[in-house]
Amino acid sequence: MNLLIDQWIPVRPLESGGAVKISLRELLCGEGKWELCLPRDDMELAAMQLLICITQALFTPKDGKELMIRIARPITVEEYESSIRNFADWFCVDHPKQPFMQVRGVAAKDPTPMDKLLAGVTGATNSCFVNQAGLADGLCGGCAAIVLFNQASCAPSFGGGFKAGLRGSAPITTLAQGDHLRRTVWLNVLHEEELILNFPWHRDTAPQKPTWIEPLKAGETIPAQRIGVVRGLLWQPAHIELLPPVAAEICSCCGCRTDKAYVAFNKAKFSYTVSGTWPHPHSPRIMTSKKGEIEEKFASFTTSAPAWTQLSRFVVQQQIDKTNTDGQQPAEVITQARKILPPQLQKLHLLIGGYRNNQASVLERRHEVFTLNHGWDKHSGVIGELVSLGRSYRDALYKAVFVFVNGVKDVKGAGVKINQAAEAQFYRRSEPTIEETLARIDFADPAPELAIMRASLKSIATDLFNEATRPYLNDPQLIKTLAVARRTLFKHLNNLEPQMNTGGDNGTAKIP
Ligand SMILES: [Zn+2]
Repeated sequence: MNLLIDQWIPVRPLESGGAVKISLRELLCGEGKWELCLPRDDMELAAMQLLICITQALFTPKDGKELMIRIARPITVEEYESSIRNFADWFCVDHPKQPFMQVRGVAAKDPTPMDKLLAGVTGATNSCFVNQAGLADGLCGGCAAIVLFNQASCAPSFGGGFKAGLRGSAPITTLAQGDHLRRTVWLNVLHEEELILNFPWHRDTAPQKPTWIEPLKAGETIPAQRIGVVRGLLWQPAHIELLPPVAAEICSCCGCRTDKAYVAFNKAKFSYTVSGTWPHPHSPRIMTSKKGEIEEKFASFTTSAPAWTQLSRFVVQQQIDKTNTDGQQPAEVITQARKILPPQLQKLHLLIGGYRNNQASVLERRHEVFTLNHGWDKHSGVIGELVSLGRSYRDALYKAVFVFVNGVKDVKGAGVKINQAAEAQFYRRSEPTIEETLARIDFADPAPELAIMRASLKSIATDLFNEATRPYLNDPQLIKTLAVARRTLFKHLNNLEPQMNTGGDNGTAKIP
């Protein structure tokens, strides 16, 4: 199964119609408008990234002008064929010597079932609720390539000494989404000049081959600045070998017909060190200054807070300087989108995905698309203001419920743990408000839309406070507690009104 030649991309037509498989050539050279079609959104995101990485590796446009032509229309079959000519044997899942993202001859005591390659199917406490049964029973070659790539690049390692990908265990991926699959792929391919800005060592490292063609050496230390674009995008941190496929009829993942399916693989620990951070172009990074040293890492979902609470770091660059001890760098593909998109495309559909993990265990999958109205690229401060306002309403509710639960001074607390639930409810109910505000706001004149958002979030916070405390209304011992907590809520909500912003905090409650 060759990813450059065979039909392996599971898609459905955007208009209407059932799932089919197309080849990369049909995707890049055809007029068809497709969307990916897999049973899990993280698998679709992995398939998307794999397509972007292959296209970046083999079809890098020379400048922004050429990239715009690629975004606008398909490439010709001749262009396709001449670009893949020298690379066909890099992308065979079942190559006898150098199979895609694998190593031949991996020695393992026992084979590992395929479900270990599908992040979060086993091991997580909630896995039976979010996966259909039998998802990993037997995978076609295309799905096998997608899960190999996902495990290597986006998911936590197998644990127990296995290394994670170049972005760490569970990076957030942010991409610009186009109106159909081909356009999304090109929107996230960096043109040559942008590539050199992001990877100043690009020209020197361009001849490098992927890790399964030129293997890493055990124990070696590799400076991140010596890893080329293709090698880094398709980095395989572990030693993995799919066992020979067995006869099959249907792929348990994409549901398409297949005459053979992969059911198990061998894995072996393999150790090396990458020094420094490789600037992966699909992920935002955060920088912290500690004792004069700048530490850099990829943004991740470390709490249950929704993606919008981190929106600022996904789209706004911030340098470390006298006023900021933390810095943030959006994914290079988003930075490029900001520079090249023509006015009619400047509404950004920001695709955000990733896992929340505890070491090798996946706790949660995230997948969201935010639409940012025209002007997001020129008025980035507004995004920070909007996010901070959203978080402040969450804080107001949380502080008030905290007072109700824990009491203050001589006022007894209710002693029931309801603040976490109230916070989770706030995030759930406020999400549509935040999404609509981002999609509608006039970034040059944000005040009217922010006022509507304030009113909506205020009413959500008030409703949730009432719902959380209602069961205790008739408890005579808590009447005073409830009154103090309600006062705390109104004080914090009032502080968020624009004209009241100068009002100080008189310290009704101390929150950890
Ligand atoms: Zn499949």
